[in-house]
Amino acid sequence: QAKAQGRARCLAFTDDMRTEPLLTLKLQSDMRRAIERDEFLLYYQPILSLPDRRLTGFEALIRWNHAQRGLIPPATFIPIAEENGLMTDLGDWVTNAACRQMRAWQDRVGAPVPLSLSINVAPTQLIHPEAFPLLDRAVAASGVDIGRIKLEVTETALAGDAELLPQRLRALRERGFRILIDDFGTGYSSLSRLHRFPIDGLKIDQSFVKPMLYDPDSAAIVRTIVALGKALELDLFAEGVEDEGTAAELGRMQCDFAQGYLFARPLPVDAADGLVEDLMEELAGKPADRPVRT
Ligand code: C2E
Ligand code: MG
Ligand code: MG
Ligand code: MG
Repeated sequence: QAKAQGRARCLAFTDDMRTEPLLTLKLQSDMRRAIERDEFLLYYQPILSLPDRRLTGFEALIRWNHAQRGLIPPATFIPIAEENGLMTDLGDWVTNAACRQMRAWQDRVGAPVPLSLSINVAPTQLIHPEAFPLLDRAVAASGVDIGRIKLEVTETALAGDAELLPQRLRALRERGFRILIDDFGTGYSSLSRLHRFPIDGLKIDQSFVKPMLYDPDSAAIVRTIVALGKALELDLFAEGVEDEGTAAELGRMQCDFAQGYLFARPLPVDAADGLVEDLMEELAGKPADRPVRT
């Protein structure tokens, strides 16, 4: 009995060891066709102002609706795309789809919507020789105001001392895009490097935000990042806000914007449509007929 169990465990172990790389290989080949098959989609997570909690924009977050495996989260396939030279194509799909959606909202409500749209961009996408024409085309094709588009680059991506990325970000900012540093606090950017990057805001990583009410060190880090950002005249965003107490405390700390499950999870597009309509009705002075919270 014990022997059989041992063997089963052992088998399961070797199975895992084989299925992991095989799964990666399978996804890798599937991904090449997935764009044409229209298997990717964007979810939209609301970003709210503090302390008044008004909707100010959305972050576009990619999902892969795999024919056999269902919805696959980005953490599973973005690294595969990166390693296999597919990130530029995938990133181009994201920017086009996100800009098109922004335009669709504009058309739906019959006016430019006073919302921003955050798009995550991978470093490989930005250092690609075609980076500018691809981004320009996505924006131009949609006709959306470039100033409403925020490109999110992770702090980790900015680590290292390559000069190309800061140069690219500077040029993108001159073109009118806003630049945010994502997952701030988890990378290793020195203050002097931060100073050299042309940016508009910092997104405080959720690993500091989530425990800030019960972990004094996390609270101190959040407070320090807010102070640093304010001193540099940057917009401050808190990610991973899951409870009222945290939202209230961030407001007291004068963090400008917040995003998290407390307000809304990343939403499929029809749910985001509803929020955009509510906002426009509210701005027009009509009472919203849907609850603003989701
Ligand atoms: P991110 O850009 O930092 O996005 C925030 C992540 O935190 C999202 O996970 C979101 O669903 C999750 N989140 C938001 N609020 C909360 C909360 O209150 N609690 C918790 N526990 N989680 C929360 P998601 O959608 O799985 O995305 C993971 C990462 O994948 C993103 O992190 C981003 O780095 C990357 N990613 C997503 N979409 C794209 C894309 O289109 N292009 C690129 N290059 N990367 C993307
Ligand atoms: Mg992001
Ligand atoms: Mg983040
Ligand atoms: Mg404010």
